[in-house]
Amino acid sequence: MKYFSTRNRDGVGIGLDDAILQGLAPDGGLYLPEDVNPIDLELFSEEDSFAQCCEILYGQIAPELSESVFEVFDFPVELLPYEDSQHRILELFHGPTAAFKDFGARILASALGRISKERQISPTVLVATSGDTGGAVASAFEKIPNVKVVILFPKGGVSPRQELQLGCWGEHVSALRVEGSFDDCQALVKRAFTTETLREKHRLTSANSINIARVLGQVSYYAWASIQTPNYSYVIPTGNLGNAFACVWAKRLGFPIGSIRLATNANQTLRQYFETGDYQPRDSVSTLANAMDVGAPSNFERLVSWFSTLDEMKAFGIDVKSVDDAMIESVIQNASFTMCPHTACAMSATSALNSIIVSTAHPAKFDTIVEPLRGPVCLPESLEGLLDRETRYTDIPNNFEYLSNFLG
Ligand SMILES: *Cc1c(COP(=O)(O)O)cnc(C)c1O
Repeated sequence: MKYFSTRNRDGVGIGLDDAILQGLAPDGGLYLPEDVNPIDLELFSEEDSFAQCCEILYGQIAPELSESVFEVFDFPVELLPYEDSQHRILELFHGPTAAFKDFGARILASALGRISKERQISPTVLVATSGDTGGAVASAFEKIPNVKVVILFPKGGVSPRQELQLGCWGEHVSALRVEGSFDDCQALVKRAFTTETLREKHRLTSANSINIARVLGQVSYYAWASIQTPNYSYVIPTGNLGNAFACVWAKRLGFPIGSIRLATNANQTLRQYFETGDYQPRDSVSTLANAMDVGAPSNFERLVSWFSTLDEMKAFGIDVKSVDDAMIESVIQNASFTMCPHTACAMSATSALNSIIVSTAHPAKFDTIVEPLRGPVCLPESLEGLLDRETRYTDIPNNFEYLSNFLG
């Protein structure tokens, strides 16, 4: 399968390994496969474990990734009933950093480790994080020393526990605390990628969901869940649209998926687009669901590349619901189980029957928000081990020269 930039679909296609290594396409676009061929559903069975399902899935759509699935996906996915309703909860937070970003980050790290070895190169992964990405990426690369990792995060924009998790990895993983917002961090990273000298010198690649491996890694649990419970709708906490795009991908592959609802926080870019057809990126606003504080969702470009009009998107079953902080608080306070603020957005946005509510992080990662509303939350074992580690950061202003100097 060849991969093409969203900005040059008539250009020269490249292989998946090259697309992963590049992260962002040189023209600023995002990589997508040439085709999405319908999958043979007969290959899958309800009895398959999650990792078995992944082996079949990637064997079909991305053989480059299929060898490592048992190592990459060595933690469970849980699909649980919700009270006595028809709804289900898809828990994606049982990986090493207790958020769904572990899926994409681990498949990416494994692929980059393999590619670097095969080609005898040492790339640098540059990544902006609004919280969970950085921890998941850093953790995923801990045992891959031939890849350097540089993480940018907004000062004051991530939870104290998330912050601790960013700076506690080996010498080849650095955390930069930026005087600015997540969008500023993302803009710095984008600029580094489009500065050719820098990009080539360090073989820069991205671990944000602009990297196709991240999104591919997330198709896995939609495939598996849809085989377990066919024809359910999905309500997905959405920021940069990487997670939701993976669901769209799974549905295009032919997995039995109903409608796809993008649950956003008070950031209105997507809601407004679905209401008016007018896409207006804007500055992000801070909310309780901070991993979704995004004013210019990076995977939007992939979405519009697959649907030529908004009506087509809607006909495919995609819609948006925006949830404000008051609703998030109320759900956290009153629901029958304890959940993180992002999952609370999805919970609040659910209206269709037979919905799968996607639960993106363990509530203990957002203890400063959840505990005052709900009481003490136990730490999962994976996080407990991390919080005792020593942590270090470098503070930088929102200025490209500093990033450039840091990279050397
Ligand atoms: C990143 C993140 C999201 C948003 O996912 P996108 O792929 O950016 O849309 C939602 N919830 C949590 C907990 C996250 O870490």
